[in-house]
Parts: sequence; structure tokens; C-alpha cells
Amino acid sequence: MRIAVTLSFLFLLTMFLGCQQAEQYAADTTETEIFPGPPNVVLIVLDTLRADRIGASRDGVPLMPGLEAFANNAAYFRRAYANATWTKPSMVSLFTSLYPGVHNVQYGTVHSLGDDEAVRADAIPDTFETMAELFQQAGYRTLAFQENANMSPVFNMDKGFERYEFHPYPEWTADRMTEEVSNVLAELEGPFFLYAHYMDPHAPYEPPDEYLELFEEVPGLTVQDRDLLDRYYDFYNDFLMHRFGIKDSRDEPDFSEQGKEKIRLLYDAEVRYADDHITSLIAGIQERHPNTYIVFVSDHGEELWEHGSIGHGPTVYDEVAHVDLIIQGPSVSAKAVDHPVMLIDVLPTLAAMAELPVREEWQGIDLFADDLLERPVFIETHSSIQATGIFKQAVVLGDRKLIIDYQHDTAELYDLAADPREQNPLDRPDEVAALRALIDEQNELNRSHPLHSEGDARQLELDDETIEALRAVGYVM
Ligand SMILES: [Zn+2]
Repeated sequence: MRIAVTLSFLFLLTMFLGCQQAEQYAADTTETEIFPGPPNVVLIVLDTLRADRIGASRDGVPLMPGLEAFANNAAYFRRAYANATWTKPSMVSLFTSLYPGVHNVQYGTVHSLGDDEAVRADAIPDTFETMAELFQQAGYRTLAFQENANMSPVFNMDKGFERYEFHPYPEWTADRMTEEVSNVLAELEGPFFLYAHYMDPHAPYEPPDEYLELFEEVPGLTVQDRDLLDRYYDFYNDFLMHRFGIKDSRDEPDFSEQGKEKIRLLYDAEVRYADDHITSLIAGIQERHPNTYIVFVSDHGEELWEHGSIGHGPTVYDEVAHVDLIIQGPSVSAKAVDHPVMLIDVLPTLAAMAELPVREEWQGIDLFADDLLERPVFIETHSSIQATGIFKQAVVLGDRKLIIDYQHDTAELYDLAADPREQNPLDRPDEVAALRALIDEQNELNRSHPLHSEGDARQLELDDETIEALRAVGYVM
């Protein structure tokens, strides 16, 4: 009874908050054009991009001027959330419109940390229908250009693609990606679905010098900082193994405050570098293929010591869960949307745009058809490494966010409007109980979902090449 009362209070509260922050419409600069034939779709993923980098600047230099201009002429979902905070479960949710708790493609590695035993990892089961398969069944050409080792064809991620080019980062960086994809697009006849996945903001942070030189150098780096920067993954793996309780003490020292700022500078320079090349790709698509929906999204963000750590995967705070989602195309009016949405909404939205069949099993909604007002948004993580034992879930409803840490049996409630960096948990047990009930209810729905998978059905033993590709981006310790 108490939960029911609290829920109705929450409903009223969020209705009120929803009205307060009604959708803001920018000037409609997009003429609605009518093209013959089905539209093309290009899905551009920029891995590890924090949502707060669009519109931000460093030393007076904008970090993402190209994507900012693109967003201002598009539907810009400014409160989009990844359903998981690292690549594999997040991307599988995007590709299937299923919560991670349904598909359970959760682990990048399954092994004892620091051990040489066989390394296994989750792959997408054959039984799941993906975004690419849906386009392929509708007669689309389907092509992918992919840099993330967690999205290797080894993990069945090429399902539905007639061409799936996998070039693990940093073998390809943004300049090469844009060049290769632009060359393909110059010759390609529609309708096509093309997926391009850039990795540059992901560690290791090694931007080209000319991008680093756009910004002021961080003064006062110590000899130790420089040494750690040269051996970044020695630092990172040691740091994480200690954090996860695998090691009692750390072998490596920490970065100084200046060293941490240097990492933020390197990250920002990578972001600016990616922005230039992605903007160039978008300009080429708009010129050569005007009948195209362009979707720009990030699979998760990156923590830069807001909550004591760096990287992504172990937590569900906004620096890793809040992502960009921008959609531009023939019938899309420019507007900024400030209601929480999720990556599981992308597939139903694209299906509506391209008039593809809609599946009852999807858990997301068409973002242009449905009332976004009051819908809870769910995020979770087990981290990429099963041996950590991490399991956290979060729900965002209006400006409230509740995080449950099952490993440590704790709950944190935040007011994202007053405390967007999630530094001051609120002490409101009634609200915690009401939001927790929403998480419990969604977990029950996920368990009884017709496609619910236990997750180990497609666990693979990895070959040396895949292990090395994963190790190069920090997924094998
Ligand atoms: Zn990622």
C-alpha cells in the first residue's frame, strides 16, 4: 500500500517535472523532402563518448563543433541512456531492442583474473534477430565497418551483414574509417544499412599531435606521470585488480592531479579528432545520399575520476551511462528532447522510419511516435569481467536516479537536476523503495520475456588473436 501511494506521488512529481522541462524545439531548419524509394540508414557509433562533450570546450576550443552543428539540425535526444555501461551488452541491446537482463550477452571475458587459463566470452545467440537482419530481410544492402574487439565476428556480431569489416583499434583510427567508408558510399546504391563504429575516445588515449596541439599543455607532470602514461595498461590493470579485490595492494603508483588532467586532455583531443572525421563522413553522406537517416550514438561514456576511477563498465553513474543520440533524416524536424530515452529505442525508431516490420518482443519504443513523458529508463552492468562479481542496476525516472549495488547491498538515490554529477545521495527511504519496486518489476518482466536467455548458451573459448585484440583495449587482465 505504501509503495502504491509513493508510486502515485512519484508519478505526479515526474508529470510536474516533465511539464517543467517540455521538449525544446530549435528553429526548424530541416525542410521535409519526399524521396522515391526506401530511405538508407547509416548508424555511426562513437565508442566511449561522454554525453557532456558535445557543446563543451577546453581552453576556448570547442570539442565537438561538427557534431554540435549536426545535433542542432537534427532530433537531439539530450538525455539518452545506454542500457549497459560497456560495449558488448550495450550494443546488443541497441541491435535487438532487448534489455541486457533478457539477452544476457554480458561478459567480455570469463576467467580468473591474472591467470593463464582458457578465456571465454559471451557471443550473441543465433536465436536473436538483429537490426541488420531486419534490414537485410527488407532487401537492404547491409555493411559494417567496425573497430571494437568486443564486436568481432567471432562473437556472431556480423549476423545479418553481407559485409562486415573488422579492423581492431588502433589498427584503424578515425581518419582511416572515414576514408574507407566514404569510398564505399561513393559507389553504393541504396537502399542500404551501413554501420560504422569508431573507437578513438577509448583507451589507449593517443591522439594525433596536431589535435593535442589545439589545446594548452598540462603543466607540472611528474617523471612518474610520464612513466605511467607510457605504460598505461600496466597502471590500469593494476588499479582495477586492486579495486576489484583481486590484489590486496597496488604495485603501481597513482597519477598526480596534473597527470589525471593530462589524461582528460588526451581524451578531449581524441574526441575532437573523431569529431572532425565523423563530421566529414556525415557531410559526404548528405551530399551523395540525401535520402538517408543518419543516427549518431555512443555505446557508453567514460569515467575520468568523478567517482574515484577511470574507464567504464564497473559503475552506472551518468559519466558512463548518459550518451548522445542524434537522428537526422528526410522527415526529421530539428528539435531537442529532454526526456530520458534509451538505446533499446533505436531499433523501433529506425524500423518505423524505414517501414520495417515491428516485433512484439522489442522492449523499446519508436521515439517519434510515442509519448516519452513518463517512462522509467533502466541501466545495468556486470562489468566486462565476470570474476569481478559486479552487479549494479539503475533506474532513471524524471530527474531521480536510483542505483542498486547488489554486490555490496547498497542503494544510492540522486536528484540529477540539482546534483548532475551524482555526488550527494539523498536520504529518502520512501522514494528508494518506490524506485526499487520499478527495478524489481522490470527484472520480473525480463525473466518472463519469451526471448530471455541465461546467457551461457553462446559462451566461446577465445583464440589467441582475439585475446590479444581484447588485451590491446584493456579487456583481458
Ligand atoms: Zn564501447
